[in-house]
Amino acid sequence: MTTPSLLILPGDGIGPEVMAEVRRVIDWYGDKRGLKFDVSEDLVGGAAYDVHGTPLHDDTMAKAQEVDAVLLGAVGGPKYDVLDFSVKPERGLLRLRKEMDLFANLRPAQCFDALADFSSLKKDVVAGLDIMIVRELTSGIYFGEPRGIFTEGNERVGINTQRYTESEIDRVARNAFELAMKRGRKLCSMEKANVMESGILWREVVTKVGEDYPEVELSHMYADAGAMQLCRWPKQFDVIVTDNLFGDLLSDAAAMLTGSLGMLPSASLGAPMENGRPKAMYEPVHGSAPDIAGQGKANPIACILSFAMALRYSFDQGAEADRLEAAINAVLEKGVRTADLLGEEGVTPVSTAGMGDAILAALDESL
Ligand code: NAD
Repeated sequence: MTTPSLLILPGDGIGPEVMAEVRRVIDWYGDKRGLKFDVSEDLVGGAAYDVHGTPLHDDTMAKAQEVDAVLLGAVGGPKYDVLDFSVKPERGLLRLRKEMDLFANLRPAQCFDALADFSSLKKDVVAGLDIMIVRELTSGIYFGEPRGIFTEGNERVGINTQRYTESEIDRVARNAFELAMKRGRKLCSMEKANVMESGILWREVVTKVGEDYPEVELSHMYADAGAMQLCRWPKQFDVIVTDNLFGDLLSDAAAMLTGSLGMLPSASLGAPMENGRPKAMYEPVHGSAPDIAGQGKANPIACILSFAMALRYSFDQGAEADRLEAAINAVLEKGVRTADLLGEEGVTPVSTAGMGDAILAALDESL
């Protein structure tokens, strides 16, 4: 079997700092578990603009299309705010998502027990929470035509169009059902079929796809009711599938049930490649955090958990992903905290590398 390939794009701000800790974890898997990756590294965002005058060089884009998975840190920063829209750091990220056609965005909301007090909800509502939101990422109202600001009579009108084809719904639904099969076999689809035709079609297609997955218990919920249920009793959900707009809102809300931005990973998946692996990019939810960049304060866990998702969804190493998540849980249980996770009296924060050290030690203990 060929060695799986991984393209690392650290990006800007805290991106390179948190990615350095991921590199140590990747090396650990090579040394201690015989799990070797063919790792290459390149520039994205402002770092790429500084060198190439573009936030994503064509050669980097071509590499991203070839590898088994891309792992990205974060892009952006105040230095680049003055740039033209077409070369802003975020354009590099959007180009990767678009050209790789990453249509399924996976956003886990998982509450580590040691951090249950961090949630804005009561501890018993979030302790043990483990849900996955699958958001359609490349269609819907953010892309539909017509769009724009037009003049009608003597006033202007802003228009965006919600548009979904059956095949777009089918492919993201299949992705969600496959995930549900590997998890708790429960899938809740959220739309607004009561007021939107696209929602009626969404419900019809998801129901039809569900016939291929009789083992999965499928339910439907209006997205506004879903938002309420997520805040009321989130543990009723296993996998949620929803469109681009509702997914944007629901995944952010669900993620924050669990605490800090420094803890949240994500995966964006596309169609299967020739080797059967999906096109994939993994990245923390957070940005480049210019306010703490270069100070060794960043929490690397979101980026390390993104690598755990790569182990699970690109490299079929679910047990090793479990090992990594358990190591992070053990570290948190011991009270090790980066500054963003403080709140308790008498706890001294560790640095980004200090958190990396603790996770590697916990990985060693897991052997
Ligand atoms: P941000 O996520 O960078 O930071 C928000 C707050 O959370 C900051 O106070 C920051 O210090 C803190 N934070 C974020 N990640 C952390 C971590 N790992 N550890 C500890 N604290 C952490 O969002 P922002 O400040 O709105 O944006 C800053 C820049 O990042 C902007 O240029 C923005 O465009 C860009 N951005 C990039 C991405 C991405 O690359 N995917 C996502 C969001 C924002």
